[in-house]
Amino acid sequence: MRSYVREAKRRGLGTRRERIGPIIERLAEEHKDAEIALRFRSNLELLVSVMLSAQTTDVNVNRVTERLFEKYTKPEDYLAVPEEELQRDIYATGFFRQKTKAIRGTMQALLERFDGEVPTKLEDLVTLPGVARKTANVVAAELGHAQGIVVDTHVRRLSQRLGLTRQEPPVKIELDLQKIVPRADWARFPHLLIWHGRRVCDARRPLCEECVLASLCPSSRVDVVDQPASG
Ligand code: SF4
Repeated sequence: MRSYVREAKRRGLGTRRERIGPIIERLAEEHKDAEIALRFRSNLELLVSVMLSAQTTDVNVNRVTERLFEKYTKPEDYLAVPEEELQRDIYATGFFRQKTKAIRGTMQALLERFDGEVPTKLEDLVTLPGVARKTANVVAAELGHAQGIVVDTHVRRLSQRLGLTRQEPPVKIELDLQKIVPRADWARFPHLLIWHGRRVCDARRPLCEECVLASLCPSSRVDVVDQPASG
């Protein structure tokens, strides 16, 4: 992959550490509404929503959970019905067999090891069946205990385009971001990149001419010289 870290140096845009502050400021100004798009009313609903969101859109998950959460309100409810019934109830989110298995396993684990409550520590969350690091990071951040930085497809693409990382594997990208993103911003930073990725920095057609980060971005297709790096 082309390294935009080196390109940032060539264009004289400043180091990653120098650019990260203005990048966050400008994105926060641009996307004031950037927050998780999943709808939930409790920690348990949050966890289930995030587990269901694998390989599908948040809009699709919200459509399914609107009914699901009326029927299933506590961990026991997911175990009280036959497996096939839960499969049917979450069918529209795709991968319904794996997701059913993961959800039921997780509910069992919550009851056995966490008094039926959703833990907030990353190290506990990743012990739940079917809960990978990304899911755990999303849940911990939403519960106000961000212990890492969520790296999804948008975060990955934008971090690379902005020259904040040279890495490909999400875990390595996360480590690079942890070194430069202030800890207080670990929860909101992914939301900012996700919304910017959806609205402006599209995978195929980035709208560089409309982008507030153009003067800080080594992969910008437009020449912007008017905005100082300080923000
Ligand atoms: S300048 Fe272009 S490539 Fe860079 S973040 Fe903005 S839209 Fe994406």
